[in-house]
Amino acid sequence: MKSVSSLAVRLALAVFAASPASPAVPELHDVVAAKIEAEYPALEAIFKNLHAHPELSFMETKTAALIAQELRALGIEVTEKVGNTGVVGVLKNGAGPTVLVRADMDGLPVKEMTGLSWASAAVVKDLAGKEQPAMHACGHDMHVTGLIGTARTLAALKDHWRGTIVFVAQPAEEIVAGARAMLMDGLYTRFPKPDFALALHVSAVRPAGEIGYVDGTPYASVSSLDITVRGVGGHGSQPQATKDPVVLAAQIVVALQTIVSRETKPGTPAVVTVGTIYGGTKRNIISEEVKLELTLRAFEDGVMNHLIAAVRRICEGTARAAGLPEDRLPIVTVTPESTPVTTNHAALTQRLVGTFHAWFGEKNVTRRPPTTGGEDFSEFGRTVDRVPIFIWGVGAADPQKYAEVEKRGLTLPSNHSPLADFVPDPTLKTCVGTMSAAVLELLGKK
Ligand code: ZN
Repeated sequence: MKSVSSLAVRLALAVFAASPASPAVPELHDVVAAKIEAEYPALEAIFKNLHAHPELSFMETKTAALIAQELRALGIEVTEKVGNTGVVGVLKNGAGPTVLVRADMDGLPVKEMTGLSWASAAVVKDLAGKEQPAMHACGHDMHVTGLIGTARTLAALKDHWRGTIVFVAQPAEEIVAGARAMLMDGLYTRFPKPDFALALHVSAVRPAGEIGYVDGTPYASVSSLDITVRGVGGHGSQPQATKDPVVLAAQIVVALQTIVSRETKPGTPAVVTVGTIYGGTKRNIISEEVKLELTLRAFEDGVMNHLIAAVRRICEGTARAAGLPEDRLPIVTVTPESTPVTTNHAALTQRLVGTFHAWFGEKNVTRRPPTTGGEDFSEFGRTVDRVPIFIWGVGAADPQKYAEVEKRGLTLPSNHSPLADFVPDPTLKTCVGTMSAAVLELLGKK
């Protein structure tokens, strides 16, 4: 443990040390680094407390209350219950642009198995009232703590910037519903409309200290589909009198595999996954219906539209081939658990990657490929205002563990795994450091 933490400290210092390759490390860099060092013990305590007490999507009331209290203590104007459990903090500091800083708050219905001393043992209610084990398996606790750390840093450094910062603690990212809920509740009309919107996401599989970014499209679009395959039920011994939805659903699941392999242009990323299948009650009953839940991913709207249309066509066509009457064809529904592709604004990306190079050294900033994960941060750039957005990645894996598994050609347990491990030091420092650097670049006195 000792060697791990001392390595983490050295890495943290390395991240904040001036790179010899960067001739002009901004003077502000040292001021921010010193402030973060001073705040670190308090931030780590907040993080560990949040980690031990995760809350599920749209149920983040205690997390939201903590954020509201922390922001108010800094003199920030706070509004709660925006988009259900969202929190908005507005920090005005004279004339200048407006920057939105977003952190998502929700944990996942996952039973934590990390064995960490601050691991969650929580069992909480989900939105439907069902008790679930909960874990911050996607690191949103790190994002929330990073937001608080950034607020503390920038509230203390008001002499160095002009403009308005809108701190946004967003609910329900895991069901990609919270960003839309906040926007529909007037995020861009009741509060200063941002000129730029910023977010970051931690990764349990990238080494702590690393800053990663994607030029263009970091996250795919997500469409969640529900399919009800209907049959004509009856006795299991007399299939001739029925239309068996279990057989039909099996044929559909196999046929869906041809969408990506046979209908999508080779080299075009697309995913069709059937995540759940439920049907039947007893072995000798041919049931009335089978339910399927799918997730689709794509990087272009046109590709996603094709995937959805192909799922419908295959479901209906397969059912017709099985002799189902027109009024018993499968029902295909696109659920609200869907979000568009996330596209980083090109000029903003270039500008802030330049800032990260200057502040943290080029060797700590890595260009990464897109992932087929989804992010509803996309919504902040998709309103009619077309606000330029930029989301970047922050490595959170213990550097020593990362190096060990990399040597063996393996990867660490990823985000959403019950074993996902996000090391607070130096990850929190990189979260606060990069977000503060980005805001100061956009609002800094020139
Ligand atoms: Zn996440």
